[in-house]
Amino acid sequence: MYRHEIDEQKKTLELWVRRKRGNRKLECSGCGRKFQDAYDWNERAVRDLPWSTFKTTVHIEVYRVKGPACGVKVEKVPLLPSKAPFSKRFEEAVGQACESASARQVARQFGLAASTVRAIDLRDLERWDAARKKPALRQMGVDEIHLGKKQKFLTVVCNLETAEPLWFGRERKKETLDGYFQEALRLQQRMRITAACVDMWEPYRLSIEQHAPNCRIVYDKFHVMQHANQAIDEVRRAEFFRKGGRWRGLVKGKRWLLLSRWVNLTAGKRQELNQLFALNRKVCKAYLLKESLDRLWTYRYEGAMLNYLERWIDPLRWQRLKPFQKLAEMLLDHLDGILNYCRTKVPLGVVEAVNGNIKSLLRRGRGYKNLRYLLLKVQRMAATKTEFLVLQKAA
Ligand SMILES: [Zn+2]
Repeated sequence: MYRHEIDEQKKTLELWVRRKRGNRKLECSGCGRKFQDAYDWNERAVRDLPWSTFKTTVHIEVYRVKGPACGVKVEKVPLLPSKAPFSKRFEEAVGQACESASARQVARQFGLAASTVRAIDLRDLERWDAARKKPALRQMGVDEIHLGKKQKFLTVVCNLETAEPLWFGRERKKETLDGYFQEALRLQQRMRITAACVDMWEPYRLSIEQHAPNCRIVYDKFHVMQHANQAIDEVRRAEFFRKGGRWRGLVKGKRWLLLSRWVNLTAGKRQELNQLFALNRKVCKAYLLKESLDRLWTYRYEGAMLNYLERWIDPLRWQRLKPFQKLAEMLLDHLDGILNYCRTKVPLGVVEAVNGNIKSLLRRGRGYKNLRYLLLKVQRMAATKTEFLVLQKAA
C-alpha cells in the first residue's frame, strides 16, 4: 500500500495498492502464459470488505501483458474475479449473506441496489459451482412444479442421494426430459442410473425408458399422495362448493385441513374436521381413503403391498366417489412402478423436500426469471442445508 485516505464524516476508507516488484511473474488471464514484463498498466477501484464501520475501496494497479496467443490482455488477479467493481472477498460476503436473506435485505445491509446484489450472488454461485466436486447420479427424482398460468410447468431433476436439484427444464413434455439426458449426461452416466422416482406421467416414463435403460421407475409416495390430495379436493368441491350459498361458507378455508394428515393436526383442528364429516359422509370417506392410502408405503414385501392395495381399492366399487375410482384405475395402470418401491430402495421425502425448497425460494423473491440462478441457489441450499425444513420434517 502506498497511499491511503480516510474520511471520518462520510465513513469511507480508500487504499492504493500495487504489487511488489519481486520474482512473481505476470500471468495472462486468457491463456495462463507467464510474462516477465508488463505491456502497460491501469488502475482499478474495487469495493472490499469494510474496515470497522468504514466502507472500504481499494485502488489496485493492474497490468496488461502482450503475448502471441491473446495479443494485449489483462493479467490474472485472483482478488479480482470479474469486471465488476468488487473484490472476490466482498462478493463472497454478499453471497453468504444471500444464503439466508432476500436480495432486498442484503442490498440494504451493504448499501447496494438489489439488482447488483443478485448479480454478485450469481457470480459467487457460479464460482462455487465451478470449484466443487459433483457426485455421480445413481438414483434420480423427476418432478414438475407449477409456476402459474403463464409460465406453466417447470421440470425438475434431482439426485435422490444428495437431495440436490440437478437441472431445470421448461414444460413437462417427453422432449423436456430428453433434453436433460442429452445435454447433461454421457451414455456411461445414463447407464449408471438405477432408479427414478417420478410422477405417474407418461412422457417422463417414455423418456427415462429410452435414455436410461438400466433405470427402474418408482412411483413414489409423494407423487401418488399428490393425486390422492387432488381427488379429495375434487370431492370437497363437488360436495360443498358447487352447492353454493350456505354450503360454500361451511367449507371455506378448510381445504388445507382436508389435505393435512390427521397426525399433524391439533385437537382443535381435528374437531373442526369432525364437524365437517358430520355434515357430509362422502367427504369423510374420502378423507379416510386418503389417510389409509398413506400406509401403503409401510409394506416391505410386494405381496403384502399388493394385498393392501387391493383391499383399499375393493370397497370403492360400492362408494360413489368418482375421483377416487379414477385414482384407483390410475394406480392399477401403474402397478408395477408402485410395487417397485419394494424392489428398489429409494429415499422417501427427497423429491418433496427439493420441491419445497424451490417453492420457498420462488415465494420469497422475484428475480428468478433466470432459471440458472434459481438452480444454483437451490443447489447451494442443499449443500449448506440452510433451509432444509421440509426434509427435516419428513425425516
Ligand atoms: Zn494469453
